[in-house]
Amino acid sequence: MQGPWDAIVIGAGAAGLMCAITAGRHGRRVLLLDHANKVGKKILMSGGGRCNFTNTGTTPANYLSANPHYCKSALARYAPQDFIDLVDRHRIAWHEKELGQLFCDDSSKQIVRMLLDECEAAGVRVETGCPIEEVRHHGDHFRLHTAQGPCAAPALVVATGGLSIPSMGASGFGYTLARQFGHEVLPTRAGLVPLTLSGKHHERLQDLAGVALPVEARCNGARFSNQLLVTHRGVSGPAILQISSYWQPGDDLRLDLLPGRDVLAWLQAQQRERPAAELKTVLGEVMPRRFAQRLCEIWLPSRPLRQYPDAELRPVAALLQAWPLIASGSEGYRTAEVTLGGVDTDQLSSSTMMSRRVEGLYFIGEVVDVTGWLGGYNFQWAWASGHAAGLALAARAA
Ligand SMILES: Cc1cc2nc3c(=O)[nH]c(=O)nc-3n(C[C@H](O)[C@H](O)[C@H](O)COP(=O)(O)OP(=O)(O)OC[C@H]3O[C@@H](n4cnc5c(N)ncnc54)[C@H](O)[C@@H]3O)c2cc1C
Repeated sequence: MQGPWDAIVIGAGAAGLMCAITAGRHGRRVLLLDHANKVGKKILMSGGGRCNFTNTGTTPANYLSANPHYCKSALARYAPQDFIDLVDRHRIAWHEKELGQLFCDDSSKQIVRMLLDECEAAGVRVETGCPIEEVRHHGDHFRLHTAQGPCAAPALVVATGGLSIPSMGASGFGYTLARQFGHEVLPTRAGLVPLTLSGKHHERLQDLAGVALPVEARCNGARFSNQLLVTHRGVSGPAILQISSYWQPGDDLRLDLLPGRDVLAWLQAQQRERPAAELKTVLGEVMPRRFAQRLCEIWLPSRPLRQYPDAELRPVAALLQAWPLIASGSEGYRTAEVTLGGVDTDQLSSSTMMSRRVEGLYFIGEVVDVTGWLGGYNFQWAWASGHAAGLALAARAA
């Protein structure tokens, strides 16, 4: 792996690949290292094997970060359309599933193949199966000791991702490097992750595993309308994954079980039209029957509708629109799609992704404290931040 190299990128995931390609396309000599046995493992497993590679509606509002402004510059300079153009140039067929989410028609493998072909065209040297033992900064060079020997460059890009799915190569190495160079790492936790229930809250729903219904999940000012899925351990589904990034144990998490409906007006109409019908029967017509039945066993009294005076119908409607979900925790990094928190953006440049502390040191992708919603936003951040750093590498070596 003897150079000379203009830049070494650690982590051949979405962000690292894009950064290396961008710098390589501008004539920079780039070495891309990964300890895993192949590149882009998360790309391969993403989107159920079809890679939700971007979201056409991407805006900075779709990201969580201690500094919500940090992601703006990079996202503005590399838009979803830029990645779509790349995908189109490689003749990869895609489709929009819902809510601006773009997926490959065929397989995520095509995205990895495309990025590797781009690496080759850009002259990027890719080394997999290459654990990094030590990184030092001597003079104006970063010197790495790796399992495949030493290497050095005046620029080092850390693109090691977050902690989610350790079995896919995730490690805390990026955070260790950040601290080594004097950067602050904001507390990390699992995001876009199923929530777990315990005790009586678990017992009450456990046997409904597999039941799904549309809800609006609300927590700490965030709200997401999508499906909820009851699992053996708790709850999942897109609405829960989304809200999980805004929830921490003890926070108030509410579900509107009949989203988009004025529930009181609807119940009053039902009461007028079919006074003899029981609440559970009426509810079972607009949500899964077993779920309605369980609601009426535990949280709501089920009587013929005529037996509800208005003063009792109101709290029923209120509960259906703000049903409290008492989660005990999350399934953690084992199943989380992303890691919240990470390298503090305060000490990074939002236009180049370079450290304000150490000249030539860059952090991109998920290792940084920028986390997207579910739906292609995380890859768009990886592409955009990788592209911004790649352009900065091109500019510095010129
Ligand atoms: C199951 C799953 C499905 C997902 N689906 C989607 C989706 O459809 N759409 C979407 O937008 N997002 C999705 N995500 C999130 C998305 O995969 C990540 O946000 C994105 O991959 C982050 O890119 P990255 O390059 O920063 O990190 P990664 O893609 O995680 O890449 C980091 C790379 O660094 C390497 N590395 C780590 N530690 C070391 C080390 N010590 N030495 C050398 N190399 C190291 C890893 O092996 C890896 O190759 C999904 C995530 C998961 C887990």
